[in-house]
Amino acid sequence: MTHEVWFLTGSQGLYGPETLDQVAAQSRQIAATLDESPDIAVRVVWKPVLTSAGDILRICLEANAAANAGSSVVGVVAWMHTFSPAKMWISGLDALRTPLLHLHTQANVALPWAEIDMDFMNLNQAAHGDREFGYIQSRLGVARKTVAGHVTDPRVTARIGAWARAAAGFTEMRSLKLARFGDNMRDVAVTEGDKVEAQLRFGVSVNTYGVNDLVSSVDATSDADVDNLVKEYHDTYRVSAALKEDRAESLRYAARIELGLRAFLTAGGFKAFTTNFEDLGGLRQLPGLAVQRLMADGYGFGGEGDWKTSVLVRTLKAMAPGGGTSFMEDYTYDLTPGNEVILGAHMLEVCPSIAFDTPSCEIHPLGIGGREDPVRLVFDATPGPAVVLGLADLGERFRLVANEIDVVTPTAPLPRLPVARAVWKPRPDLSTSAESWLTAGGPHHTVLSFAVGTEELADLADMTGTELLVIDADTTVRQFAKEVRWNQAYHRLARGF
Ligand code: MN
Repeated sequence: MTHEVWFLTGSQGLYGPETLDQVAAQSRQIAATLDESPDIAVRVVWKPVLTSAGDILRICLEANAAANAGSSVVGVVAWMHTFSPAKMWISGLDALRTPLLHLHTQANVALPWAEIDMDFMNLNQAAHGDREFGYIQSRLGVARKTVAGHVTDPRVTARIGAWARAAAGFTEMRSLKLARFGDNMRDVAVTEGDKVEAQLRFGVSVNTYGVNDLVSSVDATSDADVDNLVKEYHDTYRVSAALKEDRAESLRYAARIELGLRAFLTAGGFKAFTTNFEDLGGLRQLPGLAVQRLMADGYGFGGEGDWKTSVLVRTLKAMAPGGGTSFMEDYTYDLTPGNEVILGAHMLEVCPSIAFDTPSCEIHPLGIGGREDPVRLVFDATPGPAVVLGLADLGERFRLVANEIDVVTPTAPLPRLPVARAVWKPRPDLSTSAESWLTAGGPHHTVLSFAVGTEELADLADMTGTELLVIDADTTVRQFAKEVRWNQAYHRLARGF
C-alpha cells in the first residue's frame, strides 16, 4: 500500500477570489513538487485551500478517520500561504490525531526585486503567516515537525521524507498486533514491560499464546509444502553439506516451523512476534531460520519474549520497507586500543536483509534449551553507517536510546562462530558509547538499521511522545548524563499530575 499525506494550505477570505485562485495554483505546485520528489516515499495529496474554522476542523477529522480506518493516510502537512488567522485553527489542531508537519515555505525562491508591489506582498506573506501558525501550535502544545526552506532544496525534501517515513512507522504501530509464544525469559528485567501503557502510547496490541498453539500449526503443514520450501532454501542459500545429507530431516523440520509460523501469523493478522528458548513446548528446534526469513519479509521479532524490541523491529521495517533492519544484541567486545569494536549477534536470529553476501544455511548445537540442533543462516553484516535503537520501560514511561554506529568488516574471519553477526564501531568511541548507553539504562536487545537514521527516529519519538536519547559523534559522557537528568524532570512535568 502506498501511503499518502495530505497537503493543507491555510488562507482567509479577506483577499478575494482572484488572490485565492493564485494561492490554490501555487499551493498545488508546491504539493506537486513534493509529490514528485524521490526523497519523499509517500504520495503528497493537495487539498483545497482552507479559509474557515469549519473547513479546518472538517479536514482534520477526515484525516483522523482516514488514518484510523487503516487507509493510506499517515499524516498532514500544513503551510500558511498568505495569512491564515490562527484562531481558525484551534478546533482543528486540537482534534487532529495524525502526525503533523509544518512546512514553512513560499512559492518563489528569489525575490523579483524590481517588480515587488503590494499585491505581491499580500500574496507572498508566509514569512509572517506561518509565524501566526507556529504561535498557535505552541500555544496548544501541538506535537509537530517544523521544516523551513524552499521545496526545491534537497535538504527540505530530505527532512520531509524522514518525517514521512516516521509517520508510516507511527501508523504501523497504531494497528500492530504482536503474538508472543510464551512469556519472557525468567528473571530477566529489561525485557519486561507494561503492555497496557504500550497500547496506549504506541497503539500496539501485545498478547501471549501457548507455544503449543504454534506447534499445532507446525504439525499441520503438508509434506508437499515442505518439499517446495526446502527447494527454495537450496536455491537461495549455500546449504551446508550436513543439511544436504544426514541432517536433511532437520532442514525439513526447520521448513515446517517456517510454514507453521507463517500460517499462524497470517491467520491472526500479526506482523510481529517473539519466541523464548525456555518455552518451546512440542517444538523440536528453537526457531532460527524461520525467524530470520520472516524478519526479511518485514516481520518484527524479539528473542526471549522481548516484545518491545519486536515492536521496534516491525516499526523500523515499516518505515523503510526495502530491508536493512534486524533484531540485534550487543554480545562481546574487542577492546584493542584504537580499534575497539562491538561484536553483535544473537543465538540465531539475525535478519538476512543485512547480509553482505549469500548466507550459508547451517546446523549446529545450541548448548541451551535442550532441544534438537537448530538450523540457521550464517553471514557477516554489510559494512556501512547504521543505527542501533533500544526501548526500555522505566516504570512510569518508555525511553528510546539510539547510537549512531559504523558497521565494519570483521577484524579477522570468524570461522568457528556459527551465527550471523555484525561488527561495528559505535560513535563517538566504544567507551563513550557504552558508558552513555549504560547510564541511560538502554537494553541489550536492539534494532540495528542501515535504512533508518536519527532524524526519522527523532520524528517517531516526537509523534509518540517518547523520550529519545541519542549517542552520536558529538556525545560526551558528562553532557549525556545531564541530558538524562534533565529529561527525567521534563518528562515528569510534561505528563501533568
Ligand atoms: Mn537475547
